[in-house]
Amino acid sequence: MRVPLIAGNWKMNTTINEAIKLASDLRSLIDGVTGVEKILCPPFISLSAVKDVLKNSTIKTGAQNMYFQEKGAFTGEISPAMLQGLCDYVILGHSERRQLLGETDEIVNRKVQIALKFGLKPIVCVGENLAQYEAGRSRETVRTQVGASLAGLTLPPDLVIAYEPVWAIGTGKAATGKQANDMTVMIREIIGNTFDKRTAAQIRTLYGGSVTPENIGEFVCQPEIDGALVGGASLKAEQFASIVRTASTAKH
Ligand code: PEP
Repeated sequence: MRVPLIAGNWKMNTTINEAIKLASDLRSLIDGVTGVEKILCPPFISLSAVKDVLKNSTIKTGAQNMYFQEKGAFTGEISPAMLQGLCDYVILGHSERRQLLGETDEIVNRKVQIALKFGLKPIVCVGENLAQYEAGRSRETVRTQVGASLAGLTLPPDLVIAYEPVWAIGTGKAATGKQANDMTVMIREIIGNTFDKRTAAQIRTLYGGSVTPENIGEFVCQPEIDGALVGGASLKAEQFASIVRTASTAKH
C-alpha cells in the first residue's frame, strides 16, 4: 500500500529563525500523526537548522531544488552531494523554476538522474499552464513532461510525481479532485509503460495547487492521489497540521 505523503514547500519564505520556529511548531503539532509521511522543504540555508529541530521526530526534510553536477565551478548552486544527510527528498522541476528560471525538461531529467544516484528521492513536478489548459492541451503537456523527466532511467525509480497545474498554484483556484485523479491515472500509465506495472502501482503521485485544510479531503480520497505538495498553507502551522491530519485518515 502506498503511504500518503504531505510535503510543505516553503518556497523563498522564512529567515533561519522563522524556519526554526515554524519547524518547532509543526513538530509539536504533527510529530505524533501516523499513517502519513510528513516532509518540510525549507530554503537551503535553513535545511540544517530545520533538520536539527526535527531530530528524532517522524518528520522528514526536503530541498526545493538542486543542481545536476556533483561539484565544481557553478557559483551559487547546491549539489546532491551537499544535500546528502541534510534531506531525504528534493523537489525538482517546480513550475516556478520552469517558468521563471528557464528550467527545461532536459535539465529536470539530469537532476532526477543525479538525485537518484545520490540517494535523494525526487519529487518531480509536472503540470500545464493556463494557456495549455484553455487550449485543451493539459494531457499532452503532462505526458511530455513525465516522459522527458524519466527518460533514460533504467531501474524502477524511487520517486514521487506531483501533478501541479500551474493555473492552480498560488491562485486559490484548485483543480477538482476528479481532474487531478484523471491526470494521475495517466501519469501512472506512463510509468507502467516506461517501467512496469509493479513500479507504476508503487510510485506515489501528489496533487499540488491551492491545497487548503478545506479542500485536501477532496484530493486524498481519490484512488490514485497519494497526498499533496502544499505551498502557501505550509507556512501556517495550524493549516499544514490540519492538512496532514486529514491525509492521515483518508485511505482508511
Ligand atoms: C507549490 O508551490 O507547489 C504550491 C502548490 O503552492 P500553493 O499551495 O500555494 O498553490
